[in-house]
Amino acid sequence: MPGTYSHPPLKVGVSSCFFHADPTRPLFKGKTLLYAEESMLQWLLENHAIPFLLPRLGPTTSDGISLTGLLRELDGLLLQGGADVAPGSYGETALQEEWGGDPLRDCYERALIKEAMQLQLPILGICRGHQILNVACGGTLWQDTESQCPGTLGHRRWDTYDQNQHQARIIPNSGLAKIYPDQQTIVVNSIHHQAIKDLAPGFQVECRSEPDGIIEAIRWIQDPSYYCVGIQWHPEFQPQRDRERLPREPIMKEFIAAMTAKRG
Ligand code: MN
Repeated sequence: MPGTYSHPPLKVGVSSCFFHADPTRPLFKGKTLLYAEESMLQWLLENHAIPFLLPRLGPTTSDGISLTGLLRELDGLLLQGGADVAPGSYGETALQEEWGGDPLRDCYERALIKEAMQLQLPILGICRGHQILNVACGGTLWQDTESQCPGTLGHRRWDTYDQNQHQARIIPNSGLAKIYPDQQTIVVNSIHHQAIKDLAPGFQVECRSEPDGIIEAIRWIQDPSYYCVGIQWHPEFQPQRDRERLPREPIMKEFIAAMTAKRG
C-alpha cells in the first residue's frame, strides 16, 4: 500500500549466481555471467527493499570501490541459493565428481560474509546461502544427504522441484519460535541435497526436519543483537499467502526490522 513506509527503501545486496565463462555458449561467448533468480528479487521489492546484485570485486585502483566501500552503502546482505558448496571449502574432497560445487562462488561469498559480519550488516542466507554461512564460519556439510545419511527424507526431487515438501520442527525458545509463536510442527519446501553436518561455532540450530533431524534453520547467537540467519528452504518460491506451508513473511519482516534498526 503506498504511503505505508516513512523511510526510504532499504538497499539489500544480493549475492550473485554464476554462469562461468563458457566458450560454447552462443550468447556472451566466453564471458562470466552473474544472475539472480527473479522471485527472490520480487520478495525484496514487495517489502520496500531494493535488491542490488553484487559483483565480484577485482583489484581496486585508488578510485575503485572496495568490498568494504560497497557493503557500507547497503543495509543488508541476502545470500541466494544455487550451485553446491565445494567440499574443498570445508576441507573435504568431492565424493562424486558432480558434487564438486562452485569453489569460485564460495570464495566470493565467503569474502562478502566475512566483511558483512565485520560491519554488523544483517545477513539472511537461503538454501545454499544458509550452507555457505555455516561453512564461512567454520562448519561443514553433508555432500549428499541421501547417500551419507541413510533413511533421510527426499530433500530434493527433480520432478516436483519446489512442490517437494516435508515436515519440520521449530526448536522451542529459538528466534524462529519467537517469530512463529503459534507454530511448532511445520511444513516447508525442500530443494537441497547438501545439508549442514557440523554447525559452525557462534550459531544455534532453530529448526530440524522431521523425522530425520536435518538442520533446516540456524541463527548467530554469539552476539544476540546481531541478525544473521540461515534458512534451508526457499520462502521466495512460495506464494505470498501459502496456506499449506509455513508462511514466509515473518522471515522477511525480521530481516527488514534488523536492517531498519541498523540504519537507525
Ligand atoms: Mn529439507
